[in-house]
Amino acid sequence: MPLQIVHHPDYDAGFAVNHRFPMSKYKLLMEALGARGLTGPAALNMPEPAPASWLKLAHAAGYVDQVLACEVPEKIEREIGFPVGPRVSLRAQLATGGTVLAARLALLNGIACNAAGGSHHARRAQGAGFCTFNDVAVASLLLLAEAAVGNILIVDLDVHQGDGTADILGGERRVFTFSMHGDRNYPTRKIASDLDIALPDGTGDAAYLQRLGDILPELTAMARWDIVFYNAGVDVHAEDRLGRLSLSDEGLRARDDMVIRHFRALGIPVCGVIGGGYSTDVAALAARHAILFETASGFA
Ligand SMILES: [Zn+2]
Repeated sequence: MPLQIVHHPDYDAGFAVNHRFPMSKYKLLMEALGARGLTGPAALNMPEPAPASWLKLAHAAGYVDQVLACEVPEKIEREIGFPVGPRVSLRAQLATGGTVLAARLALLNGIACNAAGGSHHARRAQGAGFCTFNDVAVASLLLLAEAAVGNILIVDLDVHQGDGTADILGGERRVFTFSMHGDRNYPTRKIASDLDIALPDGTGDAAYLQRLGDILPELTAMARWDIVFYNAGVDVHAEDRLGRLSLSDEGLRARDDMVIRHFRALGIPVCGVIGGGYSTDVAALAARHAILFETASGFA
């Protein structure tokens, strides 16, 4: 069976091309995946918007209601980085539903990826840092509530620290949150994960892969994980506009291969989400995000 990919055309909320958030990357990513032969009819899955009951597992009920009604206070919209109108609200619900669907497909097939998701700065009380709902936190709490899994590991390799995920899941003992990120990146006030590794500016392929290779066996020794959520943010790339690290395309590929190979060799399901990536060259950015899917397809 081909790699199961979750996508919805409304992941793209149609921002202006010069917006700080490169919204067109979702469409260009699907084109890149199509060019690589990964988007045949047997590969694609379309999510439903996540219902309020799911979203409220991870977020304050009042905030969820505000997003669904498109009545988010301006102060919070400024922290998110864009106004929450109908298209942004829908995309946040769809991206969350997409990570839930990808997680279910990963449990069935061993691996699956959402062509969105990784909104790890959204905290329990509100969104922030281009993140409206925390899709991985919602999916984790839903799978636990359904008793579909007992122990969850989150491997967050986006260049920014996973503060929102740590905020929501800090008291949840059945989920272990691991974030490896650039020390001097957003957010300035980090919320401690169960394990954080902060890397210095300019960290390149060799040092990055060494740290990662050292930590993966320690993570698997901690518990028998029923699923791993892998945030494969590409903002660790040397040419990323917001990252401060220095990975190459080959480094990204080696990173994704290392993570997926490690957990799949142990029979642990992997749910990939794309995380962050920022560039004015959106085609190059989409090609970087495509590396996760190319790599994952080798394990499907
Ligand atoms: Zn990021």
